[in-house]
Amino acid sequence: MREAVLLTPGPLTTTLATKTAMLTDWGSWDARFNQLTASICHDLLQIAEVGADYCCVPLQGSGTFAVEAAIGSLVPRDRELLVLVNGAYGQRMAKMAQVMGLKVQVLAVTDGIPVSAAAVKEALAANPAISHVGMIHCETATGLLNPVAEVASVVQAAGRGLILDSMSAFGALSIAGLAFDALISSANKCLEGVPGMGFVIVKKTALQVGRSPSLSLDLCDQYEYMQKTGQWRFTPPTHVVAAFRAALDQYLAEGGQLARLARYQANGDLLAAGMAKLGIKPFLVPPLQAPIIYTFYAPAHPEYKFQRFYQAVCQRGFLLYPGKLTEVETFRVGCIGAIDQAEISQAIAAIGDALLELGWL
Ligand SMILES: *Cc1c(COP(=O)(O)O)cnc(C)c1O
Repeated sequence: MREAVLLTPGPLTTTLATKTAMLTDWGSWDARFNQLTASICHDLLQIAEVGADYCCVPLQGSGTFAVEAAIGSLVPRDRELLVLVNGAYGQRMAKMAQVMGLKVQVLAVTDGIPVSAAAVKEALAANPAISHVGMIHCETATGLLNPVAEVASVVQAAGRGLILDSMSAFGALSIAGLAFDALISSANKCLEGVPGMGFVIVKKTALQVGRSPSLSLDLCDQYEYMQKTGQWRFTPPTHVVAAFRAALDQYLAEGGQLARLARYQANGDLLAAGMAKLGIKPFLVPPLQAPIIYTFYAPAHPEYKFQRFYQAVCQRGFLLYPGKLTEVETFRVGCIGAIDQAEISQAIAAIGDALLELGWL
């Protein structure tokens, strides 16, 4: 039987080539392994389309570790971070900065409403202590695409730095020409690697020795050590790195960002149309929807429980994702990973079949 298809925002369904790349045990002192790391950083900088004033710093851990590393390594202790919040990942960014002891100002709007560049402009004018603005590119909690270009130009015009959590967008959504100090993503989202490492594309001048309050999450130290030795500080996730190399090879062979976006958009359009046919309503209006993960209102049946729905769809070979909204009952369906329209149509059939069996259609 085929493995379950993951309709989630990561970990994702990966290809056999990506999985089999993990069958080698690498030594962390092996020059060929260092070459693997260097080639990944090289390709990530190319995908980001940045110049020689940026570097790529890979980091062990899940994506959150890399976001925390970027904030701690960039925001000066005596300045403030403005965080734009319209969902759970924005909230997490504000919380991690507070935990680090940084002064944080939160600009929050309701989940499902895009953050506003005009409000950012006002907030920056009112508070000169703010050195950086933190925002989420695609807010995975709802699937909403935030107006990154507009916010980035406001932040740049105000002479501040943008820290962009592009975790669930990088590689699929364009960032060409975007002004940022740091952009964070991880191996297991749109680049379709496996979980275990994140990376930060960061302006070299934004890294300063001794600024990070953490040893293991110090991007400046990680970068300088890697420059000197070619190695990661501390044990690298060797198998994850090898799988990421394989995933990037496939990404480039597929045609890069435009091809990846086209596949995800086709997946997403098919998903939205199929769910509409089942009478399941989307949480977001189409212009706000990124082709990454979709939030749907739960069927309005009094006995609806996500767990039962999940089990019924799981038995048919597809893994759904729970909703992340506090006010309304929702569930999420991802359309990223090594899947295309064939898997999406099968998933819609499985969801319809499960709803029929449960009597919720
Ligand atoms: C996945 C994701 C993260 C990181 O989550 P981890 O569970 O730590 O990998 C951060 N921000 C966004 C927007 C994400 O989608």
